Amino acid sequence: MNDALTRLLRCAPAPAERVVDEYRDLAAEVADKTAGDDFRAQWRTLAGLGVLRRTGGGPDGPGPVTRGLAAIEGIGLAGVDPGLCYALTSQLFGMQHPLRTALSTRDQDITEAVEDGRTLLCHALTERSGGSDPLSMASRAERDQDGYVLTGAKAFVTAAPVADLAIVFARTAQGRTPFALTAFLVPLDTPGVSRGETFDKTALPTAPMGELLFDGARLPATAVIGQEGSGLGIMSATTAWERALILGYALGPMRLLLERTARWAREREHFGRPMGASHQVAARVSDMAMALHRSRIQLYTLAAALDAGTTARQLAAEAALTKISVSEDYVRMTEHATALAGVRAFVPDSGLTADPLGPLAALTYAGPNDLLRVGVARQLGLPVEN
Ligand SMILES: Cc1cc2nc3c(=O)[nH]c(=O)nc-3n(C[C@H](O)[C@H](O)[C@H](O)COP(=O)(O)OP(=O)(O)OC[C@H]3O[C@@H](n4cnc5c(N)ncnc54)[C@H](O)[C@@H]3O)c2cc1C
Repeated sequence: MNDALTRLLRCAPAPAERVVDEYRDLAAEVADKTAGDDFRAQWRTLAGLGVLRRTGGGPDGPGPVTRGLAAIEGIGLAGVDPGLCYALTSQLFGMQHPLRTALSTRDQDITEAVEDGRTLLCHALTERSGGSDPLSMASRAERDQDGYVLTGAKAFVTAAPVADLAIVFARTAQGRTPFALTAFLVPLDTPGVSRGETFDKTALPTAPMGELLFDGARLPATAVIGQEGSGLGIMSATTAWERALILGYALGPMRLLLERTARWAREREHFGRPMGASHQVAARVSDMAMALHRSRIQLYTLAAALDAGTTARQLAAEAALTKISVSEDYVRMTEHATALAGVRAFVPDSGLTADPLGPLAALTYAGPNDLLRVGVARQLGLPVEN
């Protein structure tokens, strides 16, 4: 990438840009060596670089959220597999940050084991019947002596086939009241808990996805995250965090796509001149740069707000707008790259293949964009319900 474009895209705060560069270099050293390892081994290697560590701050350093986002962008830039980057980002921002009190004030503090990659978490919300409407869930936890008995099944859960602990949302009261759900931290070796089907995905195929089955699993009262009935509130926090930052995993792949496409447009000869001499081709490349530029600004702005102490719930509308905007920019960038690569976009090993399914999946996870739009409009006072 030439200097002007590099400068244009370096729109994050300078300390964050340094972390991006640092993690790009660190991950580049291990990416090739570990590419053949199984998912958990690759996870541990990247965690060993400090990607999941909640550090940062100080006079010259970025805050912990910004540092995490920059580290994720850096490993993506190094070419680390997007499925692995997605799963790391989902755990870091959808679980570790919003639930850090719950992970550190229990009988034992599992923060260290999670941060260094020994313990892997998953977020079990969706059921086979659907994910957008949590109050329709059937999984239930009934009080029994001094604990709960958990019954039901969760489906389409990232990392369920390989995780050690699940954050499980279950019904503790009937009906669609805001206090009907409770969140539990459930070790997956608890008697009565088993792993069901593993789902092979067409999008992000390397991130394992599966089902969790609960057949009268007994949980102690200490398994409750927050309080009984606060599940919807916990979920609002985890999903707001995830919406705010999950697309951070895409920044590395988006930049690689732009660099590769700009190079191709400069170098390919077409009609007796470089392809990039066509205004239409140039406009597509500019649109790709604009998409990446605004995606970086949006994500790093949210990270800075979270570092400054704004709660994710206060940022719920911005998080939804950012998730919609970056996911749709990622889809459009991929469309431009595909158009400009021609047939090579569909030929493995051409160096110009483009994966449309990973970006398209971003329209669905962490809340489908259609429903997020409804929520944003509601916050603007429109009388619109889900
Ligand atoms: C890659 C990936 C990873 C995932 N990881 C996890 C995970 O770790 N844990 C987990 O619990 N789940 C996970 N999921 C599942 C995800 O959370 C759900 O897919 C999501 O909540 C949407 O639920 P659904 O697929 O049942 O879609 P549905 O609820 O069936 O909605 C499908 C579509 O219907 C339309 N629609 C439905 N109702 C409305 C309405 N009222 N207004 C407007 N439009 C509407 C929208 O277009 C929407 O996109 C993952 C999904 C993907 C793709």
